[in-house]
Amino acid sequence: MNNNQQQIIEDMQAVIHQMKIDDIEENPDSEFDLFTCSACTKDSPLAGSIQYSKYRLCNDCVLLYELALKLGKVQNIEEYMSKTEDTRLEAMCDFIKHENLKENN
Ligand SMILES: [Zn+2]
Repeated sequence: MNNNQQQIIEDMQAVIHQMKIDDIEENPDSEFDLFTCSACTKDSPLAGSIQYSKYRLCNDCVLLYELALKLGKVQNIEEYMSKTEDTRLEAMCDFIKHENLKENN
């Protein structure tokens, strides 16, 4: 990774983090209102999330997606979702394994 990319990442982190702060300022409940992120499938606060076409991404995933766009890794949200599919499947498997463990105990 070169310095330029490092700079892009740091700038983007600041911008995306600020969005979350602004959302909480505007609507304090948004820090505690949860939704299921389309990308990482985690229950995440609405604050700092963004709706991209039919997908809603949590603040962490917004950062990853915006970086992927900026760095030219993906062209749009559909491409991002298909590229991150493996990660979601993994997360889902972990979740199912975890649930099974709980049932067995
Ligand atoms: Zn997410």
